[in-house]
Amino acid sequence: MHIAIAGAGLGGLVAAARLAEAGHDVTVFEERDTVGGRVRSVHEGGFVFDRGYQVLFTGYPAVQRELDLDALDLGEFVAGATLARPNHRSTLADPFRAPSTLVDTVLNPDIQVRDKLGTFRLQRELSGRDPETILDGPTADQTIEQYLADQGFSRAYAERFVAPFYGGITLDRSLGTSAAVFEYTYKMLSEGAIGLPAEGMGAIPEQLAARAERAGASIERGTRVSVVDGHDDGASLTVDGETVDADAAVVATDPKTAGELTGVSTPTEAKACVTQHFALPDHRNLRTDRRIVLNSADDRPNTVSPSSAAQPTYAPDGQQLLVANFLGTQAESDEELAEEVRDALGSWYPETRFDDLELLHTDRVEFAQFPQPPGFREDLPAPTAPEGNVVLAGDYTRWCSIQGAMESGRVAAEEVERL
Ligand SMILES: Cc1cc2nc3c(=O)[nH]c(=O)nc-3n(C[C@H](O)[C@H](O)[C@H](O)COP(=O)(O)OP(=O)(O)OC[C@H]3O[C@@H](n4cnc5c(N)ncnc54)[C@H](O)[C@@H]3O)c2cc1C
Repeated sequence: MHIAIAGAGLGGLVAAARLAEAGHDVTVFEERDTVGGRVRSVHEGGFVFDRGYQVLFTGYPAVQRELDLDALDLGEFVAGATLARPNHRSTLADPFRAPSTLVDTVLNPDIQVRDKLGTFRLQRELSGRDPETILDGPTADQTIEQYLADQGFSRAYAERFVAPFYGGITLDRSLGTSAAVFEYTYKMLSEGAIGLPAEGMGAIPEQLAARAERAGASIERGTRVSVVDGHDDGASLTVDGETVDADAAVVATDPKTAGELTGVSTPTEAKACVTQHFALPDHRNLRTDRRIVLNSADDRPNTVSPSSAAQPTYAPDGQQLLVANFLGTQAESDEELAEEVRDALGSWYPETRFDDLELLHTDRVEFAQFPQPPGFREDLPAPTAPEGNVVLAGDYTRWCSIQGAMESGRVAAEEVERL
């Protein structure tokens, strides 16, 4: 079969690799000059800037299935966090794997006994569950906030740890996201590591693209699909004004474009973030080891990540790379936001100077995720929703994550085989 794929994000690339490996003639049309979609990296002056603060959870089943993790040469974060507010910091050693870090966690004054017990209970409960059943399980209709209260966690735990940590994952600090997303990622965090590839997050789609090309797929970078017409025995696409006929098409673009190309209803609301990358001389020690610093007081910024501590290739010798994340679009200028980051760090670390914290790069990501409130999966389109031989791939068919996107590519490839 000749299969045309629109979009070379993680979903389109997994579909391309699998279909090419199954012996099909695959062409991917990607409107940008680079693959990866929302997962891209820039290399500048010895630093690596991922586009928006992103990390790889090695526990994701699709990550284990589709990627050669050794070749990515991951630098790993330490699970847990530094909880920071003005004039106060505490270490939450590992809120996902309680037994191994009991002593540190017991010593943390920010965390109550019931939260420590809740961590044990949650880890035990989730360890036996098949991750895919979690997404449509009984907690899918609850918010994270309701779920934590039902599980007996304290309000302080929810506000000081879960709000900034999951605010970073879901781009929603209000904890209004479906608890299924919380359970799924909590399980992944208690069973796997959190890492950054040596060449940046962009190495993930690059690896998938190389795999697809090795299997014979052609990836046409810089080509835009403007029409996808499905019919009973194939599909016709308009690519840069030219007609391309195929036996089947996979639409693996962002959700808004997928809706426009196929007429299927897809999520259109966007969650944005603004990510700032800073250099700090190596000798200034944030004493957070390889743990993320969470703003437990407010969301300005929501988090500061010691990215080069986890992955030393992210900064040149003598420098460290800190990555600050603001949730939502921001009206302030890059330098105004950077000044807020210096002020916040100065209030968390009154003993340390931050006047030489140098802003290197700012990413304003307008569309990072779609909202995932309780029950959100009921409104997502089925991969086979379009007319004719057209199949959908992309996170918007499952849930917003590297796992959701990669798994969607596998499912789309299976659906194409069934046509
Ligand atoms: C800032 C940020 C932080 C995130 N953090 C994490 C995280 O830490 N962990 C995690 O698991 N997930 C995270 N995510 C989510 C994850 O990155 C996405 O869910 C996933 O990458 C989506 O992949 P996709 O293939 O579905 O779509 P996309 O990446 O959107 O790919 C779609 C592709 O289609 C192309 N395209 C669009 N229109 C056309 C057209 N007309 N013709 C041809 N090509 C077209 C686009 O250029 C793009 O390459 C984050 C996302 C962002 C942006």
